[in-house]
Amino acid sequence: MVHTVLARKWRPKKFSDLIGQQTAVTVLNNILQNGRLHHAYLLTGTRGVGKTTIARIIARALNCTNLQLNEPCGVCENCQDIDKGSFVDVIEIDAASNTGVDNIRELIDNAAYAPTLGKYKVYIIDEVHMLSKSAFNAMLKTLEEPPLHAIFVLATTDVQKVPVTILSRCLQLKLRNLLPPEIAAHLAIVLNQENVVFEDTALDIIAHAAHGSMRDALSITDQAIAYTNNKINLNDIKSMLGISDDDFIYNLLDAILEQDSNKLTIVANNIYNHGHDLENVLLKLNQILCNISLVQLGGLQNEKLKQYAGSFSINDVQLYFEITNLGLEQIVKGNNKFQVFVMTLLRMIAFTLGNNTEKQLILNTSSVKTKQTTSSETAISSSMQSPAVTQEIKPVLVTRAPETNQKKEEAAPAPNPAVVANINVEVKSFDGNWIGLIEELENKLDKAIHPVLANAKFNSYNNKQFNITVDNKYESAVNVNIIASISKTFSEHFGYPVTFNLEFSGNVDTTLKEKRYIELAEKQKIAEDAIKNDANLVQIQQLFSATIVPGSIKPVE
Ligand SMILES: [Zn+2]
Repeated sequence: MVHTVLARKWRPKKFSDLIGQQTAVTVLNNILQNGRLHHAYLLTGTRGVGKTTIARIIARALNCTNLQLNEPCGVCENCQDIDKGSFVDVIEIDAASNTGVDNIRELIDNAAYAPTLGKYKVYIIDEVHMLSKSAFNAMLKTLEEPPLHAIFVLATTDVQKVPVTILSRCLQLKLRNLLPPEIAAHLAIVLNQENVVFEDTALDIIAHAAHGSMRDALSITDQAIAYTNNKINLNDIKSMLGISDDDFIYNLLDAILEQDSNKLTIVANNIYNHGHDLENVLLKLNQILCNISLVQLGGLQNEKLKQYAGSFSINDVQLYFEITNLGLEQIVKGNNKFQVFVMTLLRMIAFTLGNNTEKQLILNTSSVKTKQTTSSETAISSSMQSPAVTQEIKPVLVTRAPETNQKKEEAAPAPNPAVVANINVEVKSFDGNWIGLIEELENKLDKAIHPVLANAKFNSYNNKQFNITVDNKYESAVNVNIIASISKTFSEHFGYPVTFNLEFSGNVDTTLKEKRYIELAEKQKIAEDAIKNDANLVQIQQLFSATIVPGSIKPVE
């Protein structure tokens, strides 16, 4: 028996088969329902979210001879031929592998001729941003005066590289990354149908490793079926994907031992990218720290841990243990587990005895500062009244940072934090206008950092902390130094320390960048319409049979 790969076998054939793209599907259904077709659609989203799949469904829906409730029937000749890729009126082009090839231009020029078999000539152009300039111009010419029978379905992973002139003529449909639970649920359905036994926890790991892409999830599942011989289980999947919690934890310990915050962040990212349960990793780290402490104090014999027991000081291990306890408390509550995870790890470097530069850095960047200063102040002021409370002060909070001690002296005459805050003059409050703020701070922010924030979505602002989602293409670039720089600029702007809580996503909208891009596309459309409706110009065109060079119209700034 020939095994068909799952991604191909389970590729959705109609709109209702699509997972997680309800918005796009509703829009397309309404269009088909009303018969008000657009001539160009632009599907955007990261790889593997279903752009070409949707494009093909659109092509089928437009040419199916037996459309049923806006869904292609899947059995008529047209549907089947489109499926096989042998339908002459559906032209599929992968711009990524055909850039600059002249015949793309010819193909697009041919849009003027009526379809041979179907009702519509459908051009599916994948990774459209890679087209050559001449191909774009040919397409633009067609889009400006589209023949009734020509439909363009464009797809791209990088919408900002699509010329604004094209964008302003497309109906844009954003496809989002799928969430791990959506992927896991779909995998369960597929595997049940395929009669493959599986453990739910194993599917969770696969779903995380797929990074929002159902296609990737299905191809990992293909490997998993082969690897586990039809019994997909957690242990095998972990070893197939090279996941071993313990190895990662020793990598973390090494980075902490080397006081290397960059390395620590990289390992943390790896752990996250491999789809580990961060809470579980933190818990394991906590247990290992406890065991190291036991080895140090002679309560446990363990060869592997012996080297760590000898390298870390007894006090530091106690300290790290406390820090992981605190991290565990926060990670169960927090909806941003990754941020808590990273900050917990960085805190270990920050508060290691005798490491002043990193400590300074972390104290200035993390939300830990405000919390800890406040709690130590509170603890100190209450300890004056009641010595019994002193025992509750965690060693982390009081004994480590000289800054905190300084604060203590300043704060001692006026221990009420609210009073301290009121002394600050020149403070601004955040009015909720994130995009405006990023525009305002554009010149104050480091040139390399501004794009990160221009591509970030504002989620909330609580207790002087900004919670934002950053486009995940910046994920590897964002490190503790960048967060420190951002916090500094914002703190200077507001007149008091503000902190940042970042999460990353492949689907970030409502950003400054997006706002500017949409404005540009609108301006372009207005400029082009103005030129086309200009009576003098129309006359000139008629007199000299002149044409407007595609893409030559530029809006006035
Ligand atoms: Zn059909």
